[in-house]
Amino acid sequence: MADSKLYDLLGVSRNASEVEIKKAYRKLAKEFHPDKNPEAGDKFKEISFAYEVLSDPKKRSTYDRVGLKGLQEGAHEGHGFSSDDLFSQIFGGGLFGMGMGPGMRGRRRHRGEDTVHTLKVSLEDLYNGKTSKLQLSKNVICTTCGGKGGRAGTTHTCRTCAGCGFKVTYRQLGPGMTQQLQSRCPTCSGEGEVIHEKDRCVACRGKKVVNETKILEVHVDKGMKESQKIYFRGEGDQQPDVEPGDVIIVLQQKPHDKFQRTNDDLVMTHALSLTEALCGFEMTLKHLDGRDLVIKHPPGQVIKPGDVKGIENEGMPQYRNPFERGNLYIKFDVLFPSNNFANEVTLKELEKLLPPRPTFHIPQGEHVEEVDLNEYDPNDRSSGGSGRQEAYASDDDEYGPGSGGIQCAHQ
Ligand SMILES: [Zn+2]
Ligand SMILES: [Zn+2]
Repeated sequence: MADSKLYDLLGVSRNASEVEIKKAYRKLAKEFHPDKNPEAGDKFKEISFAYEVLSDPKKRSTYDRVGLKGLQEGAHEGHGFSSDDLFSQIFGGGLFGMGMGPGMRGRRRHRGEDTVHTLKVSLEDLYNGKTSKLQLSKNVICTTCGGKGGRAGTTHTCRTCAGCGFKVTYRQLGPGMTQQLQSRCPTCSGEGEVIHEKDRCVACRGKKVVNETKILEVHVDKGMKESQKIYFRGEGDQQPDVEPGDVIIVLQQKPHDKFQRTNDDLVMTHALSLTEALCGFEMTLKHLDGRDLVIKHPPGQVIKPGDVKGIENEGMPQYRNPFERGNLYIKFDVLFPSNNFANEVTLKELEKLLPPRPTFHIPQGEHVEEVDLNEYDPNDRSSGGSGRQEAYASDDDEYGPGSGGIQCAHQ
């Protein structure tokens, strides 16, 4: 079967000389090298593969005879190819539109796993933006051996698994029934190839990768949110012939002691004294960027417990639009004075200033009974207990639920 795909890739004829092939490859490799032309990564791999086959007389004759498909099958049987990695990548990645069967794939994944890190940030960081340096350790291709694990030519296809990286065992389940089990090859740890101990690269001890500490600069932009992800494409662990995964930074906001965030709004609670709630107040508020916001509330505008007031555009900056901001909401608590804060005379004076109390008439008759109003703790069962239940059972109609509990607790 005439297959001239690899020749076509290099732009040479089927009977090109070794020199012509080399020349063509050099020219194309320069043009499509990923350093110069990152978009053309696949093209570069195809060219490299074509050159690897056509520059080797044995492989070239195999290719001429049986074509790409035959070459692929030959490699699977564990002979003919030293650069098994490149081969499986070319075919496994489907560069030639062939793909590989599930049995032939499996041991190589073409994109490494993503590495996920959590970065704790304060609400101030999310408001103002921040650059954090994150130190992480990652595997990088060993530069001493170029990711080969040893000197060139010392890598051998694993005999145990014939280079496929896994071992198939059969288990007899019953007469005429066997189960096929697939496990990682113990000899090569699934790599498909082995390097004898004496040939191993000293820098990586044959592992092809070394661990390296890397500092990543993480830019936390204004307005970013809890759980937002920041991607560092391709910064994950490196492995030969595997496209590294991403490093993903997940933001985690530390709780803030003053503000809670709801989308782009900020919410806080502020406690006012009763005097401030009734007679107006001024307050300053330290914002997340260090500004002091001065807030004045006029006398006569009463603040009730639980009232919420808003300040426009003082919330969080919007992500990627930081000049627009959400709102700041203040929820008010009112602190009442403690017991006996004033004597009877003062209280009479105070009462004159406050709105008059509602008029009230004590009813007359035998059914009228004066009772004590006591402190009530809903968690204190011993003070209520059975008495309360009786009260509900007998007095329900008269007092209604709710009033019975307290009134009858001390019968
Ligand atoms: Zn090495
Ligand atoms: Zn093996």
